[in-house]
Amino acid sequence: MITDLGDGRERRVFPVTTLASGDALAVTTMVLHGDRPGPVVGVSATIHGDEFEGVLILRELWRTIQRRELSGTLWLLPVANPPALGALTRNTPVDMLDLNRNFPGSPDGWLSEQLAWTISHEFLERLDYYVDIHAGGTFPWVDYCYVLNDEAFSRAFLSQLLYKPAQLYSGTTAGVTTGRGTPTCVVEIGGGYQDQAVHTQNGVRGVRNMLRHAGALPGPATGRPGQILVHTMKVMRPHQGGLLIPEGPLPPGTQLEGSVALADIVSPYTFETLETMVTPFERNIVVLSRNYISLVQPGDYAFMIGDGATATPY
Ligand SMILES: [Zn+2]
Repeated sequence: MITDLGDGRERRVFPVTTLASGDALAVTTMVLHGDRPGPVVGVSATIHGDEFEGVLILRELWRTIQRRELSGTLWLLPVANPPALGALTRNTPVDMLDLNRNFPGSPDGWLSEQLAWTISHEFLERLDYYVDIHAGGTFPWVDYCYVLNDEAFSRAFLSQLLYKPAQLYSGTTAGVTTGRGTPTCVVEIGGGYQDQAVHTQNGVRGVRNMLRHAGALPGPATGRPGQILVHTMKVMRPHQGGLLIPEGPLPPGTQLEGSVALADIVSPYTFETLETMVTPFERNIVVLSRNYISLVQPGDYAFMIGDGATATPY
């Protein structure tokens, strides 16, 4: 269903299915048509329901970008996984699946696969450029972006840290768009118990710069000196569950030499330290951290640490 909001703006809602509760599940997108022809740039957020900070970035882009300055179309999908946002969970609560491992989806599959199918056809396949915004989740805090199939596009987000994985997870939105040759960047920004204002500001600055890179906004894209490309990253997962008590605040981008304690996992029942998590490399770059005491299960994302020895400055 298309609702004309005036001034080049539309709300486009694509039905997916009816839930057992009787509620309709739909994909809601916000579309801004520029005054001049140009690329279709899509930005999505909240594909993981506990990573809603990207909504703040999209809301600000929607509020501040005017059609007279835009060439082409800006297509926003603020909440890719509504049931997961409603439950504040990473995965879709109905089928417990990670939506971002089930693309391109299927019309005959699980709920997450049906949702993925609608997003693939109604959103991803229309795009000339694609940005997917993630965050750290309820407790962790991140600030980096992926280099996938267009390094300059990723650098234009202006984060200090970039990460080029040897292999992409299968079943992601980025898998759909890179498979079609669409320049794609996955952004990881914010999350945890932090003031999100600086991340919102940086996210808006970054996406606006990417829009300049894509030719959708006027003027040349700017660069950021001192950007670092991380090639090897270790996801640090606690082996034991309990209370994670960090050694101290570690903003993403912090560099640590040698073996440094990051956090203790403490039993809330016996007060014992079950495990001390320690930096894994000779030179370590903090990519994801936890700044406050939080509950962890075995295998949770506790920290992500980049290998400083193989990281390359631009
Ligand atoms: Zn995510």
